[in-house]
Amino acid sequence: MNYKAFEEFCKNNKIEYCKNEPMKHHTSFKIGGNADFLVKVASLNELKAVLKEIVKLNISYFILGKGSNLLVSDKGIEGVVISLLEMNEISVSEDTITAFAGASLAAVCNAALENCLEGLEFAYGIPGSVGGALYMNAGAYGGEMSQVVTKAEYITPDGKTASIALKDMHLGYRTSIFKNTDKIITCVTFKLKKGKEAEIKAKMDDYITRRRSKQPLEYPSAGSTFKRPEGYFAGALIEENNLKGKAVGGAMVSQKHAGFVINYNNACCSDVMELIDYIKKTVLENNGVQLECEVIFVGR
Ligand SMILES: Cc1cc2nc3c(=O)[nH]c(=O)nc-3n(C[C@H](O)[C@H](O)[C@H](O)COP(=O)(O)OP(=O)(O)OC[C@H]3O[C@@H](n4cnc5c(N)ncnc54)[C@H](O)[C@@H]3O)c2cc1C
Repeated sequence: MNYKAFEEFCKNNKIEYCKNEPMKHHTSFKIGGNADFLVKVASLNELKAVLKEIVKLNISYFILGKGSNLLVSDKGIEGVVISLLEMNEISVSEDTITAFAGASLAAVCNAALENCLEGLEFAYGIPGSVGGALYMNAGAYGGEMSQVVTKAEYITPDGKTASIALKDMHLGYRTSIFKNTDKIITCVTFKLKKGKEAEIKAKMDDYITRRRSKQPLEYPSAGSTFKRPEGYFAGALIEENNLKGKAVGGAMVSQKHAGFVINYNNACCSDVMELIDYIKKTVLENNGVQLECEVIFVGR
């Protein structure tokens, strides 16, 4: 890969970059080898310029939000990881919030609260970015992105920007059109309802308290390891198989919530993968249910 030319480009255009950047510093699992390059784009124009250069130099790329749903290979990621976290402006107009992809969901929820807008409370406590949340159609407590988003702006690697309406996003259970296309979400529009500040705050507090009491937030993880299989709960199936506390290397099935694989002691990606395989095999053998990962594997 023509990294020398890419580095020159970053220097000339004053784009923040790091070489051989440990991805464990950019994921909630705190796992992952080095990305060959990581760039932090601060605006749509910077993103456009980076994409143009990457395409020209034929370098592969990966779009990074808050890294809260990722399991990155111990061998790292080839090419350029593009972090959007500095593209994070949020604006509010009446009942509409517009947020750039790198804004944290928490910040958008707080903006909604400040403006007495209800509907986004479910998202408070999901540790993702707006872009990552739309890509995954993130949800909790009966709410999901599909209920609050009306449209998004995106860019494709050839530099074309466009708008996509909710109905064309094909949002389903932890899935969206963005999973199967090369559309990079740049900005998302939420439509909420006027509500009462105290009620919105009470809901947010309730959800975060429930998370703290049920989820192993004291350990690094990527949230629920598996999707909910139809007719079952992944956590209940795993618990039924007495797998709470089952460990491989530094990875363990949480004692607090069997649906979470946690990094309890410097786990590497291969520990997590071995544990995931063991869980899948056990549940398939004993319950006849094929678990599917919600966590996304990335890298070499
Ligand atoms: C403790 C904990 C609790 C969690 N609870 C929940 C929960 O209740 N509900 C839930 O749904 N999830 C939950 N998650 C998972 C995770 O937070 C969500 O999936 C979140 O939406 C991921 O956003 P992110 O910015 O971290 O995305 P990342 O993990 O950075 O990326 C996820 C995927 O989205 C892609 N992506 C990111 N940004 C963009 C963009 N702008 N354009 C195109 N593609 C993009 C990435 O390339 C990657 O494929 C939890 C995670 C943790 C650690």
